[in-house]
Amino acid sequence: MNLILMGLPGAGKGTQAERIVEKYGLPHISTGDMFRQAIKDETGLGLEAKRYMDKGELVPDEVTVGIVNERLAKDDCKEGFLLDGFPRTVAQAESLERILADTGRRIDAVLYIKMDQSKLMARLTGRRICSQCGATYHLVFNPPAKEGVCDKCGGDLHQRPDDKEETVTARLEVNAKQQQPLLDFYSHQGCLQEIDGDRDIEDVFESIETILGSLNV
Ligand code: ADP
Ligand code: AMP
Repeated sequence: MNLILMGLPGAGKGTQAERIVEKYGLPHISTGDMFRQAIKDETGLGLEAKRYMDKGELVPDEVTVGIVNERLAKDDCKEGFLLDGFPRTVAQAESLERILADTGRRIDAVLYIKMDQSKLMARLTGRRICSQCGATYHLVFNPPAKEGVCDKCGGDLHQRPDDKEETVTARLEVNAKQQQPLLDFYSHQGCLQEIDGDRDIEDVFESIETILGSLNV
């Protein structure tokens, strides 16, 4: 299955990706995670991405498409993949079409987790991430058993620098502006699946399982 997870920052893409990857064994391709890793490794890509991420802006399309192109060429993506946070612009979606067409592939479903923008500030400012395994928690909505410690691997939990209130406002605005044309693009292609994200994590996942179970792939 070749899948895309779409939704505004905080809609629940990473949270659902953890579950999808575990059940369906797809490689998880999160452009945000790739940029954060590059920043940690202090590479040229990391340095460039950080300039945009710190302000809550999108990294330029050429850079983002370049890293996804390289990643999709790897062997583990031959049987399917889960894109998370990419594409975020119509230009990125068009580039993705070309990349996939060149290798005889196409997108089977776009899972759009729909959330009212007004509810996302609380989701993002309360988000905590495991420094070791990357698992996602929330101080109120999805807390770990022991404060500050990952349930899965015992790693320390931290807040992403771009989850501070000032940056969140900019991120939500930038992403909301890009989202509608992208939804129109995939709706035209007939592969858009809308999921109500304003429910319990497990209920959202159940809807995803139903959709994936009905795909003819
Ligand atoms: P995204 O990857 O779309 O930016 P995340 O999956 O990281 O979003 O979720 C953002 C925050 O909201 C996290 O702290 C997560 O634990 C929490 N969260 C995710 N899904 C839900 C949900 N259905 N209900 C309540 N909180 C949620
Ligand atoms: P995320 O982890 O998906 O919330 O992304 C964190 C940040 O990485 C975003 O605010 C952007 O600066 C950058 N980013 C991630 N994915 C993309 C993308 N597809 N296009 C442009 N920038 C991106």
